[in-house]
Amino acid sequence: METRDTRAAAAAETIPTCSCSTDAGAAAEPFDAAELRIRERVARMRHKIVILSGKGGVGKSTVAVNLAVALAGRGMQVGLLDVDIHGPSVPMMLGIEDARPHNHDGALLPVEFATNLKVMSMGFLLASRDDAVIWRGPMKYSVIGQFLADVEWGDLDYLIVDAPPGTGDEPLAILQLLGDVDGAVIVTTPQEVALSDVRKCVGFCAQVGCRPLGIIENMSGFVCPHCGETVDVFGRGGGEALAAEAGVPFLGSVPLDPELVQAGDLGRPYMAAFAQSATAEAFRGAIGPLMALDERDQERSDPRPVPSEGER
Ligand code: ADP
Repeated sequence: METRDTRAAAAAETIPTCSCSTDAGAAAEPFDAAELRIRERVARMRHKIVILSGKGGVGKSTVAVNLAVALAGRGMQVGLLDVDIHGPSVPMMLGIEDARPHNHDGALLPVEFATNLKVMSMGFLLASRDDAVIWRGPMKYSVIGQFLADVEWGDLDYLIVDAPPGTGDEPLAILQLLGDVDGAVIVTTPQEVALSDVRKCVGFCAQVGCRPLGIIENMSGFVCPHCGETVDVFGRGGGEALAAEAGVPFLGSVPLDPELVQAGDLGRPYMAAFAQSATAEAFRGAIGPLMALDERDQERSDPRPVPSEGER
């Protein structure tokens, strides 16, 4: 019978080695072969969107999870790739932290949260959720490469990538490895201390040639459950003002919502548990521009009707 240990061992077989690593593991394969597999897999992903934030704790993973669930709710085939190597929180937020990806024909099958929402995260490969990953840049680059090369993602309408905060190794690695991404969604809270880091994120996007698809202002206003009054705990409007200043679309504000915390802690994606709430509506609004990417694609690929004689 398969146990947690045998599952972890099977998954560990595919934990990467890189040429600079002294860790024991599978023999390093020629980089070209892995790169070719990445290209083949990525070619089957129609839209690739990276979720970034300037600093931690602003709700980037929460936004990534709920955007992915919202897109899947619209019938899209979605992959959610958590490249936060040191602090993967996606599995817990989806309540699948005990799931393990299985090996199939030499590839890892991502964990299916739903038939059209597949998930991969470092969190699935750790023997214990409290284990710390202490890796330098090349090792992280290598594992992120394997998340693309060795995971059987299949055909996806959207790959949503949850990158760790800041502009370090992981966002750089995923952008380099994916190559042609649609762009980045940047998550911030409204106060200036978070916004100054978002400016760096926008600058990072410009430097690496990644289009900022928009800014989401999270934790924007708290509606008191007792009196109904809105309290702007972190201020309000900073994200929108910054979006205007940077010439980046504003994708909307997500309120500070205690049920969002509960949902995250209980592993019940908020969008699924509270689909009718104002907060869920904010997430649905934010996916509008992401869905528009797909609609533009469809228009391009749909054959144009041949104009009739009279119309020519
Ligand atoms: P990050 O990925 O930016 O580090 P997380 O998504 O892990 O941030 O969120 C940090 C904490 O804040 C989590 O406990 C999460 O449930 C909570 N949180 C995120 N967004 C909201 C919100 N809009 N309202 C209330 N709590 C939130």
